Amino acid sequence: MDIFCKIVNGEIPSYTLYEDEIVKVFLDVNPDANGHSLVIPKKHYLNLYDIDNETLIHIMDVARKIGKLLEEKLHCSGLTLIQNNGSIQEVKHYHLHLKPQYENKQELLKVEEIYNILTK
Ligand code: AMP
Repeated sequence: MDIFCKIVNGEIPSYTLYEDEIVKVFLDVNPDANGHSLVIPKKHYLNLYDIDNETLIHIMDVARKIGKLLEEKLHCSGLTLIQNNGSIQEVKHYHLHLKPQYENKQELLKVEEIYNILTK
């Protein structure tokens, strides 16, 4: 079983920002930027070629909401969406990266600190 399926079924903890019956959003444990988050479907899909359109639309809708949260709470100035497929995909469970961009260089804070800012 892949690591994200284990997060979905509660075997591995995560800094969860949002979840519903279709998706889960949590902070990346090895972030490229403060607030770097991942949106995953709860059901296992390998990648872009495997996932259905309806789930993708929902993922994008949730990405938009979480993007607004990152803007409001972390005051980022932009947001980059990345989704790796094939050999460059480390975790073999579809996931959309939300990477906040900042005008000025930011010190990387602990994931727990970012979680506290985003959820308080
Ligand atoms: P990718 O290359 O798109 O497959 O990236 C996988 C991402 O998952 C990387 O940014 C990792 O830091 C992240 N990651 C791996 N394990 C975990 C975990 N247990 N919780 C949160 N993020 C994770």
